[in-house]
Amino acid sequence: MHQLVFATNNAHKLRELGEILKGEFTLFSLNDISCTDDIPETGDTLEANASQKSRYIWDRYQLDCFSDDTGLEIAALNNEPGVHSARYAGEGKNSEDNIEKVLSKLSGENNRKACFRCVISLIIRGNEYLFEGQVDGEILPERKGISGFGYDPIFLPDGYTQSFAEMNADLKNSISHRGRAVQKLVRFLLEEYPQLPER
Ligand code: IMP
Repeated sequence: MHQLVFATNNAHKLRELGEILKGEFTLFSLNDISCTDDIPETGDTLEANASQKSRYIWDRYQLDCFSDDTGLEIAALNNEPGVHSARYAGEGKNSEDNIEKVLSKLSGENNRKACFRCVISLIIRGNEYLFEGQVDGEILPERKGISGFGYDPIFLPDGYTQSFAEMNADLKNSISHRGRAVQKLVRFLLEEYPQLPER
């Protein structure tokens, strides 16, 4: 079986991908390869950050690997918070604080267009492949729903009447930025990977 490191310790992401790839790939987390480093994420784009993380693993371990990076991009805020989505309200603040900051910055703003973008960087034998998934939508004036995480309660995807936090996980995954990027990654791994030249 092929082996692949997913440069994360997020149990939810690992389980989700592990299920999809089972039988073809064995996934290892950062913990599994005893990597306890605080991997730098100093890029100013999602692509740069995703690459930085997977390059870090490749350079140190020479293991095939991938990593992901996601951001919420709000048109009226010059695509903020973008790469700063996780810590938009500052160090030590949580998702509630991040949501509060977005809502207050958009107060009185009519243009509420936004998108979530997820970039996955895959490194196979030193060669990098990028996959991107995006979902367009708008920022609601107030929170709706309690499922999910992060900015889900204030994100309404185009074509739907439910916020991400009102959807069940299957529906959200089928249309989300990460779901779409993962679908591209999985297609590549299952269809193209077997034809890549041997090391
Ligand atoms: P990460 O790159 O997956 O760690 O995502 C960075 C940040 O983007 C997270 O800390 C969340 O605040 C936000 N985020 C990522 N994915 C989602 C999502 O599916 N829903 C809501 N917020 C998200």
